Amino acid sequence: KRLKKYYPLQKSWLSGRRGHVKAVDDVSFSIYKGETFGLVGESGCGKSTLSRVIMRLTDADEGEIRFEDQDLLKMKGGALRRHRAKLQMVFQKPFESLNPRKTVGQIIGAPFEIHGVASGSDKDKRVKRLLELVGLPSQYADRYPHEFSGGQRQRIGIARAIALNPKLVVCDEAVSALDVSIQSQILNLLNDLQREFGLTYLFISHNLSVVQHMSNRIGVMYLGKMVEIADADELYANARHPYTKALLSAIPAPDPDAGKERIILTGDVPSPVNPPQGCRFCTRCRDAMPICSEVAPEFVRVGDNHEVACHLYANDGPASGSVEGGRA
Ligand code: SF4
Ligand code: MG
Repeated sequence: KRLKKYYPLQKSWLSGRRGHVKAVDDVSFSIYKGETFGLVGESGCGKSTLSRVIMRLTDADEGEIRFEDQDLLKMKGGALRRHRAKLQMVFQKPFESLNPRKTVGQIIGAPFEIHGVASGSDKDKRVKRLLELVGLPSQYADRYPHEFSGGQRQRIGIARAIALNPKLVVCDEAVSALDVSIQSQILNLLNDLQREFGLTYLFISHNLSVVQHMSNRIGVMYLGKMVEIADADELYANARHPYTKALLSAIPAPDPDAGKERIILTGDVPSPVNPPQGCRFCTRCRDAMPICSEVAPEFVRVGDNHEVACHLYANDGPASGSVEGGRA
């Protein structure tokens, strides 16, 4: 709720002032148990920062993160360490995220030791079971990361992430570095594991086709702000925010003659140091009105499980539910 994360910049020698990158700026949303919440937006919109804040890999400046009725941002020391086991992450670069000097067995087994869950032969048994769960032969436990392909490495990263029965797994561009032919295998694996263990995913990607395939609900971010949240089917059938519409129009249509209009976004994404006043999208929005460059739009409800932050829908009534009390 109302999460904020600004990164300070070096003091400018020109103005003598210190700026901030407004990476995440007053973002509110919910992730429901057992669902996959997709987060989309162009690179640099704040998706990764938001996930790092939720994982507590970086501290939020402001806001609240409620997880199982506790405020994560207030958690410290032993409580935070115990809690960490419940939140796991699958990273984008499967190679960089695996220690090249450790065997796969050591990598996957590390969480058991760190959290005092298992050691010795009990740990080895669990490691082998995890390897099988992610579709790798259990005897691979003695091999090193460089002996595996990109897709296999990502399976190892997933095995490590699910080792401690986490509640929430954040997948940040988890398949973006993989060949397209391998991507769907990894996505299917994530879906199978979700069904088997009741996992909840925060699934982050700049690839809208992948997010559509994976998600129950989707949030769209632009320049540090959440701009639209809806059920996945609803969003793809009935996007309301001009930015979401432009993003979706760029997905290649299965039937090119279906008359889908391609909306070309002109201009660059403005700097997150000095984002536009009012609606952050106003410098690129073809529907912009005078109010847009002055007042930041509030979230309004435009349908069942569909909320949008845009002045075009200002008369649709205030939002409730997932972004209750939230602002764009
Ligand atoms: Fe465009 Fe205005 Fe809506 Fe922003 S608030 S997306 S500028 S119409
Ligand atoms: Mg990112």
